[in-house]
Amino acid sequence: MSEESIWTRHYNHPCPWDQRFAPLSLPDMLEASAARDPNAVLIDFLGRHYSYGETLDGVNRVACGLKALGIARGDRIGLFLPNVPHYVAAYYGALKLGATVVNFSPLYTVDELAHQVADSGTKLLFTLSATALLPTALKVLEASSLERIVVGSVAGALPVGKSLLYRMFKGKEVAARPDDPRITSFSALIANDGRCAAAPIDPLNDVALIQYTGGTTGTPKGAMLTHQNLTANARQIDMIDPHHDAPDRILAVLPFFHVFANTCVLNRTVHRGGMIAMLPRFDATQALATIGRVKATALPGVPTMYQALLDHPQIGKTDFSSLRVCISGGAPLPAEVKAKFEAVTGSKVVEGYGLTESAGVVSTNPYEGLNKSGTIGQPIPGTRVKLADREDPTRPPPPGEPGEILFAGPQVMKGYWQRPDADAKVFVGEWLRTGDVGVIDEDGYIRIVDRLKDMIAVGGFKVFPSQIEAVLYRNPAVKEALVIGVPDVYHGEMPKAFVTLNPEVEAVDGEALKAWLNPQVGKHERVIAVEVRLNLPKTLVGKLSRKELVAEERAKAGG
Ligand code: AMP
Repeated sequence: MSEESIWTRHYNHPCPWDQRFAPLSLPDMLEASAARDPNAVLIDFLGRHYSYGETLDGVNRVACGLKALGIARGDRIGLFLPNVPHYVAAYYGALKLGATVVNFSPLYTVDELAHQVADSGTKLLFTLSATALLPTALKVLEASSLERIVVGSVAGALPVGKSLLYRMFKGKEVAARPDDPRITSFSALIANDGRCAAAPIDPLNDVALIQYTGGTTGTPKGAMLTHQNLTANARQIDMIDPHHDAPDRILAVLPFFHVFANTCVLNRTVHRGGMIAMLPRFDATQALATIGRVKATALPGVPTMYQALLDHPQIGKTDFSSLRVCISGGAPLPAEVKAKFEAVTGSKVVEGYGLTESAGVVSTNPYEGLNKSGTIGQPIPGTRVKLADREDPTRPPPPGEPGEILFAGPQVMKGYWQRPDADAKVFVGEWLRTGDVGVIDEDGYIRIVDRLKDMIAVGGFKVFPSQIEAVLYRNPAVKEALVIGVPDVYHGEMPKAFVTLNPEVEAVDGEALKAWLNPQVGKHERVIAVEVRLNLPKTLVGKLSRKELVAEERAKAGG
């Protein structure tokens, strides 16, 4: 029997696992859709419309503006933006010049932004005025290799957007610094005719995105995604949708800076010629109002978003008749949330799975046909999945046992930015290790049962125990600390800390430590409890070990 037939299952998609995808760049994908129907609406931003033709014009102007500023092929251009139309123009415009886009979360602190700007060698950063983003970006401009900031604005022309942005990003107007030559306004950047030669792009090799991720250890690394990784993944997920000929109206509440939205919301919709109704960030009231207003047909989200919508008092008054599919990913979707959201809205909620290193999606439950709750579905067309031994990823797991999920396909990243050491840990030939452990049932549906990586999925947010433990160790009363994820109905998982205490320091209890810890960590890193113990589990070589605590907590939760 060949290696392939032992480890790889083939599934009954309309398209086979060995589906091939012609090389395609992201700007060519946009241009193809704009050529089909330039008047179709691509963006609805709080009631304001931008057609495919207008968007392409903006993209061309951004490309020419960047070129005039000396940006060239291979330069790194950062996007420090929420979901606003500027994001789309800056993203495709930079790519058209052959530059590489680096996505930064709008929630980053100065330190986080500065670290990733330096690591990626980002030269120019797009951001937005009248939000907390601009002051953060200005601090990074002073203290890094960053050469220029381009500042967009949605103020004035869009009072609704302005107040919403104020509320969502708590910004103060900061001085625009008109005399600082390192700061350019977005409107000045695009004040050109949009006619300048675009760079030739090699979709298979050119890096379109550097996407920072905690990977398997929590140390941020930039996953390099090529044009082909991203356009193939957009085409792969389009294929599994039986209605893929009908343009969608998709609600963009997932942030574009994350690969889930970049692929499942932005690139997929652009490929299809559909419309994106974007909100600067998720807000349940705005989301429900927008679904009714634009007659949204699709709503990709993370489980906590569906739960927040279910908990909203307006849910019963919202017209969901247009909504046909909700794609849930990023974290396990609780069966009750899926069932309740489907019952209340009449739409289908399908659970999928992917990671930054897969340019978005690896597997999903079908849009029509059997959905198995608690599974992440089957590999999408063009994707192969296999299970490998947890200790040795070059071997299959012992018969009947779960194994680490490895996948291969056109969406496998090129590698980590300047980190060959990290590449060596995740690539096994053409296969990529996920750090997730699963089983595959007789119908080819995959179920995640464990994780090799230390990541905790709090809703869609990824939290790494080592970062919380590092804060705990700053407390003189703490001798040893371990943080694990424990099951939580709302978030899927929440961090919980276990500590031993230094006998020579005055004793504190778990509540006091929790009260001390939580204000010092990020919102999603806040622990539900700190449990004080006399001993913490250790491996044979004496290293602290989370495994036993995870098993204990799971048994307590009955799973
Ligand atoms: P990121 O790179 O931030 O997209 O995180 C990817 C990780 O999120 C995966 O390796 C999984 O551990 C987790 N993940 C994504 N989707 C799901 C899902 N549907 N169920 C469980 N975990 C998921």
